[in-house]
Amino acid sequence: MKGICILGSTGSIGVSTLDVVARHPDRYRVVALTANGNIDRLFEQCREHRPRYAVVIRDEVAADLRERLAAAGLGDIDVLAGAEALERVAALPEVDSVMAAIVGAAGLLPTLAAAKAGKDVLLANKEALVMSGQLFMAEVVRSGARLLPIDSEHNAVFQCMPADYRAGTRAVGVRRILLTASGGPFLNKPLAELESVTPEQAVAHPNWVMGRKISVDSATMMNKGLEVIEACLLFDADPDDVQVVVHRQSVIHSMVDYVDGTVLAQMGTPDMRIPIAHALAWPQRFDSGAEPLDLFGVQQLNFERPDLERFPCLRLAYEAVRAGGTAPAILNAANEVAVAAFLDHGLPFSAIPRVIEHCMEVVATGPADSIEAVLQADEETRKVAQKYIT
Ligand code: NAD
Ligand code: MG
Repeated sequence: MKGICILGSTGSIGVSTLDVVARHPDRYRVVALTANGNIDRLFEQCREHRPRYAVVIRDEVAADLRERLAAAGLGDIDVLAGAEALERVAALPEVDSVMAAIVGAAGLLPTLAAAKAGKDVLLANKEALVMSGQLFMAEVVRSGARLLPIDSEHNAVFQCMPADYRAGTRAVGVRRILLTASGGPFLNKPLAELESVTPEQAVAHPNWVMGRKISVDSATMMNKGLEVIEACLLFDADPDDVQVVVHRQSVIHSMVDYVDGTVLAQMGTPDMRIPIAHALAWPQRFDSGAEPLDLFGVQQLNFERPDLERFPCLRLAYEAVRAGGTAPAILNAANEVAVAAFLDHGLPFSAIPRVIEHCMEVVATGPADSIEAVLQADEETRKVAQKYIT
């Protein structure tokens, strides 16, 4: 029986994780659930999964949740408040696996705490890895943590690696990593119309249902850009050896191209419970609840090169990973600010890459040799981005 902590349990990945965990009560016990918003959902999750701890960010929300749990006869669930409490529950001795599913930079310190404590880190929160890069990977090696990618593409690559593969190492015989991308909702939209697309149009992804931030990232293809950086770190790959392949159907979730000409692909329905179940059961397999793949229904698989003019965010991400140091943290922070402003109707869709490019020009890149340096780059970039937007 393994203990699990789910950072960001009320989000899209958090909910899918609890769905898979509930199918295997003999394998997993929920130790801690954490959330920022959506306290009604957190309350329901506490009722159903009976964690030992529930963590929220604000004190008044914690007081409210405590009261509701007590009234429901669940006063034995410890309700903690504050960002530090996230780090505490991620490192608890009774926790074996941590699902890192907070969105954005807010997930960095708790995810890092899980890595430092040597947990099985199930990594969905790609922004945390993009920001902290080699620092994060070094902690994983030092502590002996096991890093299991949840992002469907990286989970697919991981599955196509040799059987004894450990994330962070370069596998012998790998030539290229082929990261598939659906292209999002605006793959074929006339460029002139992109200026006026609304948040509602941008979050309507053709194949996946996800949180709002990653949905906008999919529409700009910054999501794929962050994933290129994520792949360089997870698989110790050179940016030139990570090829983005636009694949509309989202059936192949990514591929590994070996030096002998073999290409291994992982396929399945677009359902995040598949990579989640893979990482939870690893190195075994168990039921995820996902529908089996119906290839006769799919019929066709198409592949295209990405268009870097239509999707400048993807170009900027390649530039950031090549620049190294704090450049990926700067890219990420600028993107988070720009996406939040767009979702708030305060920035046109097509201005998102302009905000990021401006920040990358203005904020000086330094070595990412400490978490403080990374957090400082993040903070400075947020200020520059805000100023540019307003
Ligand atoms: P979401 O917005 O649905 O959920 C985010 C979770 O984080 C929620 O529980 C929220 O309460 C919590 N949270 C938000 N801000 C917080 C803060 N400041 N402090 C503490 N907690 C906070 O997002 P999601 O779609 O589940 O994505 C989560 C992560 O997984 C992202 O990094 C995303 O890129 C990655 N991911 C998601 C998918 C997907 O299908 N949804 C696929 C691949 C990767
Ligand atoms: Mg992905």
